[in-house]
Amino acid sequence: MHRFTYRRSASAMEAVRAIAGAGPGTRFLAGGTTLYDLMKLNVETPSSIIDINSLAELNAFDTSGSSELVFGALARMSDVAADPRLGRDYPALSESLWKAASQQLRNMASLGGNLLQRTRCAYFRGGEPFACNKRKPGSGCAAQKGINRGHALLGGSDACIAVYPGDLAVALVAFDAKIDVLGPNGQRTIALEDLHREPGGTPHIETVLEPSDLIVRIRVPVTPLGRASTYHKIRDRESYAFALASAAVALQMSGGTVLDARIAIGGVATRPWRASQAERILIGRPLTSETARSAAETALHGARAGPDNGFRIELAVRTVVDALMIAKQRA
Ligand code: SF4
Repeated sequence: MHRFTYRRSASAMEAVRAIAGAGPGTRFLAGGTTLYDLMKLNVETPSSIIDINSLAELNAFDTSGSSELVFGALARMSDVAADPRLGRDYPALSESLWKAASQQLRNMASLGGNLLQRTRCAYFRGGEPFACNKRKPGSGCAAQKGINRGHALLGGSDACIAVYPGDLAVALVAFDAKIDVLGPNGQRTIALEDLHREPGGTPHIETVLEPSDLIVRIRVPVTPLGRASTYHKIRDRESYAFALASAAVALQMSGGTVLDARIAIGGVATRPWRASQAERILIGRPLTSETARSAAETALHGARAGPDNGFRIELAVRTVVDALMIAKQRA
């Protein structure tokens, strides 16, 4: 048992000041579904925990706005997934939540925490003796010559090929979502697409957040692409599994022609992966199996496979094609 101190904050700014004052080794506690998990594995060994669950200001969410949907960072995944307006007008967002984890985990897990969940790489979670640059910088990467069936095809480096495991962030990136972040110097806004870093030579630095930054809300611009959208997730079993490949797709169509398109892919990259070039291929063209295939292949352009994960390139291409056809039926 590693000893740690525990305190509960009464306001978001108090929590930020507390973590800034406590120094490295301090963690915010929201739903705890990642933190407790990694503490039990001795991968996270915080010296201090600041519980933010009593911050009612971060609990609310509102999907009725005319310009944006607003989600407090502590809104629970299950509550947001069950929102009827979200399911009707933004099925991709709703599905990305329903298809994540289990009902028990969704009841606990917060949206803000979900964005920051950490990789499922078995060498990262397995601890010693496995080399892992993310867990212990400079120690190496056991996955490069190990079992890499589930590792990244896009955005990897010689230092790390761990997949970003989340679903919601992929759908949010497709909808140009932003997050409001509170730090010791006040609040700022970050495009969600800029939140997660590719590993490069520093895979232990996973986001652009500073250690004392707190995500306070997620904002999604209202868009005519919402209804004709889907989050399509392919996995080893039908529920409670991480994606082998996923695609968040949204369309605006006129007749059979694509007026606007959004494509982001998950389960195959080191961060949520917006496929802007693939979107451009579709705009102004009819959506057929051929144009969908062309866009999907473009989305996977540059994919680099290891010995075990090459099959997931074609799987991801087909996932994007299928997602486009599902979204087309909703247009
Ligand atoms: Fe660690 Fe990344 Fe290598 Fe996995 S892929 S062992 S997380 S450095």
